[in-house]
Amino acid sequence: MKAACAECGRPLSPDEVAVTKKLVNRGTTAFLCVDCLARRFAVQREDILERIAYFKEMGCTLFSPDPQ
Ligand SMILES: [Zn+2]
Repeated sequence: MKAACAECGRPLSPDEVAVTKKLVNRGTTAFLCVDCLARRFAVQREDILERIAYFKEMGCTLFSPDPQ
């Protein structure tokens, strides 16, 4: 099943699904794209991308490892 942004309907990357779980709620079923997350939290989209990079660095299992 391909997840789509609950706000704008854009197809979501696995990272966007994962970061929504981290920022909103682990049990959430409404996922947001980076742009809509940024708007929801009143931050820049770069801040969301930074969070994704940070969680990956922490080895968070919600995030798929980067394909090498
Ligand atoms: Zn969106």
